[in-house]
Amino acid sequence: MNSNILFYIIISILLIQFIIEAVLEHLNAKRYTDTVPSELSDVFDKEEYQKSQEYKKTNYRFGMLSAVFSLCLTLIFLIFGGFDWVDTIARGYSDSPIVIALIFFGIIMIGNDIVTTPFSYYHTFVIEEKFGFNKSTRKLFWADKIKGWVMMMVLGGGMLALIIWFFQWAGTHFWIYAWALIAVFTLFMNLFYSKLIVPLFNKQTPLAEGSLKSKIEAYAKNVGFELKNIFVIDGSKRSTKANAYFSGFGKEKRITLYDTLINDLDEDEIVAVLAHEVGHYKRKHIIFNLSASILLTGLTLFILSIFINNPEVSLAIGVSQPSFHAALIGFGILYSPISEITGLVMNAMSRKFEFQADDFAKKTFAPKPLIMSLKKLSKNSLSNLTPHPAYVFMHYSHPTLISRIQNLKA
Ligand SMILES: [Zn+2]
Repeated sequence: MNSNILFYIIISILLIQFIIEAVLEHLNAKRYTDTVPSELSDVFDKEEYQKSQEYKKTNYRFGMLSAVFSLCLTLIFLIFGGFDWVDTIARGYSDSPIVIALIFFGIIMIGNDIVTTPFSYYHTFVIEEKFGFNKSTRKLFWADKIKGWVMMMVLGGGMLALIIWFFQWAGTHFWIYAWALIAVFTLFMNLFYSKLIVPLFNKQTPLAEGSLKSKIEAYAKNVGFELKNIFVIDGSKRSTKANAYFSGFGKEKRITLYDTLINDLDEDEIVAVLAHEVGHYKRKHIIFNLSASILLTGLTLFILSIFINNPEVSLAIGVSQPSFHAALIGFGILYSPISEITGLVMNAMSRKFEFQADDFAKKTFAPKPLIMSLKKLSKNSLSNLTPHPAYVFMHYSHPTLISRIQNLKA
């Protein structure tokens, strides 16, 4: 296919994706009401609920503004030869395809970050601040950003360099080696993320001895779940929002509780949240998700290998010389409708898994404290209680609060 046609397909994909998102957001925003849904009136008072609706309206307007801004920027870049300009700069420094690709992506990533940082800064220090969520400081915000950049350069740059090296060495068979590399990296990160990456950003301490720990251990023993690592993370240094998550498997499995969760919930409610997480583990959701993501990566890389040598895919983004890195960007956009579809399937699976984990907690612990904890958590994060079904279908990895409560009560 001719690169001109591909160029128009790329522009159409970007526009259609934007329109779909805008319609979904609009449908959602139309459902922001001032009355609390009756099932939830016990935790939400009228005034707090109005505050949560105000928060969502503010986020809606801000989200639309930044989406329009990003879309315009991307279109201007594509139409006025932005990629060719960056490519020429990168080629001025080296003849090595690996070095050129690293400079090329480096400029794009850093440029993109500089342009979008004012938006994330405003979101944290104006919007989240206004609604009382923000606990982060300016110093912490910038420190996070710099650490994020360094991590991206080391990990992202390292992986990209290796993948291009595979391509130079193995041609279109590079995808098998790239797949093996990404699979090993994914597994490694799943096992050691909490040990290696989290400490760069947060402090984690083992949960102190006491009644909470005894209750958790008693529950774990009861369901035959070996649990040695329970950690508390200082999430409160950034936000008042609470969370708990499970990571790793085998000997490396651990449960991480946000300190905000421990402050907001009572002990039975925390055990109920853990019971839900144990449910994910016992029902093998963690292994399923990991395998599915590795298989999808393999499929994507295989399709990439079919198109990577086609110069039209590079030329479609406006560069004058075809290259691996330009083809990567062209392919990334052309493939995005397919990844949207696989994303939909993964979200639907995930929503099913959430019900299964809730059922597990209901059977092995109790439904009431889980219902209470879900209500408190969604109240604290001002989450949307009345999303539009189309929005849920497209974006939600978790069922809505009301449907989870109905399922737990059934
Ligand atoms: Zn879950």
